[in-house]
Amino acid sequence: MSNPIQPVRGMNDILPDVRSVWAAVESAAEEIFEAYGYQRIRIPVMERTELFSRSIGETTDIVQKEMYTFEDRNGSSVTLRPEATAGIVRAGLSNGLFHNQQQKLWCSGPMFRHERPQKGRYRQFHQLNVEAIGFAGPEIDAELIVISARLWERLGLESPNLELNSLGTPEARSGYREALQHYFSASKDVLDAESLNRLERNPLRILDSKNPDLGPLITSAPELSDYLDDDSKTHFERVQQLLSDVNVSYRLNPRLVRGLDYYSRTVFEWVTDRLGAQSAVCSGGRYDGLVAQLGGRNTPAIGWALGIERVVELIEAERLQILERQPHAYLAMAGEQARRQGFGIAENLRARVPGVRLFMDCAGGSLKSQLRRADHSGAHLALILGEDELSADQLSVKALREDTPQSMQSLDGVVSELLRVRGESP
Ligand code: ATP
Ligand code: MG
Repeated sequence: MSNPIQPVRGMNDILPDVRSVWAAVESAAEEIFEAYGYQRIRIPVMERTELFSRSIGETTDIVQKEMYTFEDRNGSSVTLRPEATAGIVRAGLSNGLFHNQQQKLWCSGPMFRHERPQKGRYRQFHQLNVEAIGFAGPEIDAELIVISARLWERLGLESPNLELNSLGTPEARSGYREALQHYFSASKDVLDAESLNRLERNPLRILDSKNPDLGPLITSAPELSDYLDDDSKTHFERVQQLLSDVNVSYRLNPRLVRGLDYYSRTVFEWVTDRLGAQSAVCSGGRYDGLVAQLGGRNTPAIGWALGIERVVELIEAERLQILERQPHAYLAMAGEQARRQGFGIAENLRARVPGVRLFMDCAGGSLKSQLRRADHSGAHLALILGEDELSADQLSVKALREDTPQSMQSLDGVVSELLRVRGESP
């Protein structure tokens, strides 16, 4: 028998055991996009290479080292798409979608980047993308951000957190570029080879470096906000106001420049600290120059992309945390005497089973309503103390997550039950 064929590194099979989480993300997103008037578009996974080198930027990580580029059988250079925005703009231009029209579009599918695979970073990964083309005002910036916030809500996610910045217009940025060149040139000996390379061609990219040794230098670099043009400033303030009006909180991050060259004005990233080094779950911004850069008329536009694998992993990480907070046992007590004794019994059990999460009912009411609360708490066991148990010096143990009969047990018996559930759950 020959060896089984291995998958390509960094390209995953997405198996049925995670299908429900994937489906939850995809269907919630689709529902929200449609509710805000965004229509689905499907574009090819492969494009001519020049589409990406012209739009994403020659000095970006993506174009310099991450693209899957090869010659097809006719010798044309083609590339598996590393992101969707360029393709959507290309599709709009190819099909005349932008002639005096505004378009709100979304799409979903695999992207390809030759990066070092690790948790949250793969060579084939999946994105949801939303793009609004033909809108100049700050309302659309806020709308797009709110759409992502609604998606986290719908998925029951606590994190991520929103970071915002404005890159201003290309003209404003050129003043900043010079300031950065000046600043980083003074520390050439600290810069790594990649940053030195970027110093002349695109010093803003240095701010996006993932090299931790450059952290302090980057932190003290000049800030773009001091170079913003007035229109961009007003636009950015309005975006912030609109977000505050609908209670979407954010943090201003002057170092946020994003990894693609085509952005202008508003840029944002939803970040989390729950996925290790891979902190960005959704990112985007305004790209007012891109349509013209790709051969269309001057057309404002903005969009974002969400990494589905990272969101799925975040949902799983948060679920696990919820599971970790669930009690092992919940003590319900019937009658005045039982409440009084129960307090001491709970303390005794906690002392004998270190680390056990034993919640005592403190809200009272009927035994039935206490057991309902026990069930809602996610506890494995309900411990019941009523008159019968009191007189027998025992507790009733009722399994809430398995199908075993309720039994009366001595305190020693309860201790071994608690040791068992403590060992089984995290
Ligand atoms: P990072 O800084 O983590 O490399 P990025 O800035 O390159 O992210 P974008 O190009 O903005 O990412 O892509 C949008 C989203 O796609 C990211 O926020 C992330 O959730 C996801 N993503 C990007 N690269 C990968 C990858 N290699 N594997 C899985 N998800 C990814
Ligand atoms: Mg990247």
